[in-house]
Amino acid sequence: MKRMMFSAVACLALTCAVLSAADKVEKKDAKKPETPAATQPAQPINKFCAVDRDNPVDSTVPTVTYKGKVIGFCCEDCVPEFKKNPEKYMKDLK
Ligand SMILES: [Zn+2]
Repeated sequence: MKRMMFSAVACLALTCAVLSAADKVEKKDAKKPETPAATQPAQPINKFCAVDRDNPVDSTVPTVTYKGKVIGFCCEDCVPEFKKNPEKYMKDLK
């Protein structure tokens, strides 16, 4: 009886080790396709700030989606400025 108990425990431990190893491999594989989508922010349609048109868009400044278009800005101060009058700034984005 004692022997049976031992083998049952050993078997369980082995199964557990195999399962956790399989789990690790699975997670590593599943992570690969997700990475580009998660780290790549939406690309703004404009290269220059919608408000300060002399300044290029800074990719660290959060973008604003207006009428389905992603708008980029050179600085965070331009975001509220754009929101005040989006049509004015949408007219000649570049
Ligand atoms: Zn700006």
